[in-house]
Order: sequence, then structure tokens, then C-alpha cells
Amino acid sequence: MIEIKNLHKSYTMGKNSLHVLKGINFEVAEGELVSIMGSSGSGKSTLLNILGMLDEADEGTYHLDGVPIKDLNEKIAARYRNKFLGFIFQSFNLISYKSALDNVALPLYYQGIKRKERVETAMSYLEKVGLANWANHHPNELSGGQKQRVAIARALASNPKVLLADEPTGALDSKTSYEVMELIQGINDEGRTILIVTHEPDIAQMTKRIVNLKDGVIIDDSKVNQVRALSHV
Ligand code: ADP
Ligand code: MG
Repeated sequence: MIEIKNLHKSYTMGKNSLHVLKGINFEVAEGELVSIMGSSGSGKSTLLNILGMLDEADEGTYHLDGVPIKDLNEKIAARYRNKFLGFIFQSFNLISYKSALDNVALPLYYQGIKRKERVETAMSYLEKVGLANWANHHPNELSGGQKQRVAIARALASNPKVLLADEPTGALDSKTSYEVMELIQGINDEGRTILIVTHEPDIAQMTKRIVNLKDGVIIDDSKVNQVRALSHV
């Protein structure tokens, strides 16, 4: 699903240049649940933004579902991003003046889907995340965990092949984090490919594979021995 080779990224500020990604290679197959770990400033978000086509690498190649991303023009890239990728952020990024339902329906609006179908689809995803009864509430009436559930429903609404989550539990307490991760595991169980950036080892342990970033390179890439069947008994 994802294949990156020799990815490099630097940020330039005035005379200074910061080499953040120094030759990243990795592949993610369809249906994987992968976490990208690393300390603050190690380049996790930079990598995820490139994978999410929100930013571009300076060097290297990126194939998403077999398509070389660099070669796409802006318009096609935007369409491709909307179709293939769903995003979840630490700060939820919900629109405050829209209801939960309308937040979830928004990506469908941009895809030109008619109102009735938008509402039906959005409602079905709110049900999926356990928030059917909160459809008409606004974000400020929801708890952090509920907000992230709405954001997950929104990310799923356009049925993306890959979900990219940047510190999805970063603003949540540990119990709520665990519940959100269980929801993410369930979505992965249905076959969806998911990448999660986190600096929390407990969160990474709830994925199936941990990729460790340090000083701009991957220093470890290993399968997780899944203990989740036992961990919530
Ligand atoms: P992480 O998500 O692992 O905390 P980031 O990818 O956000 O790390 O950042 C990696 C490094 O790049 C940090 O030192 C950060 O300050 C720097 N950085 C990130 N984004 C920018 C930017 N747009 N311009 C300049 N420097 C940046
Ligand atoms: Mg980050």
C-alpha cells in the first residue's frame, strides 16, 4: 500500500537548515496497523505529512497503492489524497460551529455527494463509533474522547484505503486513549490500513508493528507481540 525509498527532508529557516529525515525506507502492506514512534522532534509528523501528501520530500520516492506520488499534478494529487487517505489529529480539528453529523458529512460534501446520502453515510459512521445519539451536538458539548470518535468517523466517511493518525491520543487521558485505540484496532480488524504516530510506548504496543525513528533514520522496525486479548480482562 505504501512504499517509500530513501526519503529525505530538510527545513530551511534563513541560513539554517535542519535535516529531519535522512533516508527513510519502509513499506506498509494493506491491512497493517503500524505505529511510528520516536521522541519529540524526531520527525514523526514530518514523515506522516509526507505520507499524507500534505508535504513533499526533498529526495526519495513514495508510491501509494502503486502510484508514484511525485508525478501527480496538484489537482490530481488533491483528488487522490481525498480518495485514498483519511486523517486523524491530536487536536481533533473539528469545525466548532457544525454538529457532529455535519462534521462527519463534510468530506462527502467535497466529493459532491448529495445531501441525503451524506447524512445517511455520516450517520452510519457515527453509529460505528458509538455516537449515534450525539449527532446533533456540537464539538464543545462533547468530551475529548467523543470528539476524537467524531474525527475518526469523519476520517472514515470517505472510505479511505489508509488512515493516518498523528498522536490521536495525545490530548486524552489514559483510559480514554485506550478506548480510542480499541476503536482503531476494530477498524483495522476490518482490513483498513492504519498508521499512527505516537511518542507513547503503551499506545504503540496496541498496534501490530512499531517503527522507531531516531535522528532522522529508522533504528528499529518490529512486530508487536499482541497481548491485547489479555490486557483488558
Ligand atoms: P515530531 O512529530 O517527531 O515531534 P516533527 O516532524 O514535528 O517532529 O519535527 C521534526 C523537527 O523539524 C523538529 O525539530 C521541528 O522543530 C522541525 N520542524 C517541523 N516542522 C517544521 C517547519 N515547518 N519548519 C521548520 N522546522 C520544522
Ligand atoms: Mg509531531
